[in-house]
Amino acid sequence: MTPSPEPLPPFSGNETACPKCSYDQAYTEHKVKAEPRTDSELPWNSDFPERLERRCARCDFIWDEALNPPTQGGA
Ligand SMILES: [Zn+2]
Repeated sequence: MTPSPEPLPPFSGNETACPKCSYDQAYTEHKVKAEPRTDSELPWNSDFPERLERRCARCDFIWDEALNPPTQGGA
């Protein structure tokens, strides 16, 4: 059995709160499977699922959210 990755939190919408500074605006960028994070030096890594990357408009904190609508169970 391969350990399943942490499930991503659901997409929190246009007016989301940054987990670090509580700012209410964040950019959204689609990332394909295995694509590393923005500004990351990491190589492409298959552990990254397809996702929506959120980036705080104030403090640049980056976090990941699930696709909207979610595709859990999809291929
Ligand atoms: Zn922030």
